[in-house]
Amino acid sequence: MSTHASARILEPLAPCVHCGFCLPACPTYLATGDENDSPRGRIVLMRQLASGGIAPTDAALGRFIDRCLGCRGCEPACPSGVSYGQGLAAARTELVAARGMPGSARVILRVFSTPLLWRPLLTMARWFRATGLPRALAGGGRLSFAFGMLAATAPPPSLPASLPRPRRAPPDGPSVALFTGCVMDTVFPHVHAATRRTLEANGYRVAEVRHQGCCGALHEHAGDHDGARALAHRNVAAFHGAADFIAVNSAGCGALLKEYRRLLDGPEAADFAARVQDVTELLAARGPRPAGPLDLEVVYDAPCHLQHAQGVHAAPLAVLRAIRGIRLRELSGADRCCGSAGIYSLLEPSLSRDVLDAKLEAIRAADPAPAVVATGNPGCLMQIGAGLLAAGLPARAAHPVELLDEAYRLHGIYDPAGPAHR
Ligand code: SF4
Ligand code: SF4
Repeated sequence: MSTHASARILEPLAPCVHCGFCLPACPTYLATGDENDSPRGRIVLMRQLASGGIAPTDAALGRFIDRCLGCRGCEPACPSGVSYGQGLAAARTELVAARGMPGSARVILRVFSTPLLWRPLLTMARWFRATGLPRALAGGGRLSFAFGMLAATAPPPSLPASLPRPRRAPPDGPSVALFTGCVMDTVFPHVHAATRRTLEANGYRVAEVRHQGCCGALHEHAGDHDGARALAHRNVAAFHGAADFIAVNSAGCGALLKEYRRLLDGPEAADFAARVQDVTELLAARGPRPAGPLDLEVVYDAPCHLQHAQGVHAAPLAVLRAIRGIRLRELSGADRCCGSAGIYSLLEPSLSRDVLDAKLEAIRAADPAPAVVATGNPGCLMQIGAGLLAAGLPARAAHPVELLDEAYRLHGIYDPAGPAHR
């Protein structure tokens, strides 16, 4: 391994003093009880990899690094300031360089690198969802769980799928370009529509940007650093000079988009990264304007890549608290991963489900029972939504902006004759 590659692994992990404070925050350690499945154990392995003590082709090393969710729940628990996620990404890049990528991961990443592949495939999945079969076939088996994940992407049937955008958008408000991504753009278009409407209702001018694509987070987390950089170059060029802010409603995408300045060199990448905001940050900066009532029991579950990677916690709660009438609680263990983690649930289905079981147990134990689990990331919406269906729990998973949009729709915020925009 080159000195540069070794330093990329060692430097972010250097502050680790092996105290073990991070262990209770690690979902894989909690699921297996194996030190090698803990942050401290993986840091020991990664240091040995970087110093040449273990070959990058070592099967046990690969197994324990592969089993890491990359959720970064260990980072806020660490008193020494270890940048675990950076060290993990560098180690995975070296493992992929030495042993190649598993065939299934290679195929998935290839699809998400190519809009001519992911767009028709995911659009067909949405059409299949509209038949109602995925919901009817949802369950706990491997295939039926996948059906449940697709079923969980659907908007609630009680609301019309589309609605005119709000009128009277202020001409002098800050401009926002929506990062549309891949999965969000094809199977969650209703969340994009809710994002546009709620931003406009809160005084933003929403601009559309063409020629953007997948953010590259799946690639970066799987060790395909070059693939992630290629996608980042495309997005930086597409958004050049586009708007004051870049709004993101997928926590996993937002975390990497904010790190483009690390992924790519140069002032354009730094300018791009500085403009990226989660949609809840933008809404919270304007209040957001309240509406309601909605008579709902809601629990909030924090996406790892919003809370741990971006450090955003108060904003989604502010968005939900703007909805009068909802009874909002944070789910017990809300800061712990649900087991989705990009393509992890496809590559490590057994451990992913073990991690999800702890989340479902917390939802089952919540009293009174929630009607909605609010979380702002497509992978979490699909994983938790499928888990709810498989467990027969009478709750749905929804993005916080979907709920705010629901309150705005039902209480006249979008009505031309309703309350005026501020
Ligand atoms: S990562 Fe941090 S919390 Fe975990 S063992 Fe190392 S120093 Fe302790
Ligand atoms: S990133 Fe998540 S799964 Fe991996 S070691 Fe840290 S807490 Fe555990």
